[in-house]
Amino acid sequence: MLISVEQIPSEEGLHLAGTLAATGNLGRDHELSLPGPIAFSVRLRRQEDRVELDGWLHTVARVNCSRCLEQAPRTVEREFQICSRPQEAMPSERAVELDVRDLDVDYYPGDSLDLSAILVEQVLLDLPMKLLCSEECRGLCPRCGANRNRHDCECDPVGDPRLAPLGGLRDRA
Ligand SMILES: [Zn+2]
Ligand SMILES: [Zn+2]
Repeated sequence: MLISVEQIPSEEGLHLAGTLAATGNLGRDHELSLPGPIAFSVRLRRQEDRVELDGWLHTVARVNCSRCLEQAPRTVEREFQICSRPQEAMPSERAVELDVRDLDVDYYPGDSLDLSAILVEQVLLDLPMKLLCSEECRGLCPRCGANRNRHDCECDPVGDPRLAPLGGLRDRA
């Protein structure tokens, strides 16, 4: 969803609300997909080519659990405040400019903002590095790879796999 920066009224701003479909896999550090739409409400204010966005979003993401690797739904509810500036204004690495009001600064290419990209980025920012399907997730068995949330395998949970051949010998004796 592209919003032409010039068409944002600089006096009263622009208020947008609705739902937006962000389809496909959005893998970054973890596999992530957004099966449903992102519900949002955002107010845009413009000062020349600088746009401030202030809003909230709500969606359900599907992410891979770090322990058992199964996909699990995760509700994302987030409020955000971003300042978006033209890409030409992006500071060089040497002169990192800090926004005086300490807003998240984002840069738009050309002359329009891609609201879908901004919302997806906010969903990604809301996710922690390590995601679990539940705090009680028992993960995968390190020996046979069985998902221990679903069934208990026959493996010895405390045994060192390097000693398994010795255990076999003992059983036969
Ligand atoms: Zn899990
Ligand atoms: Zn096992």
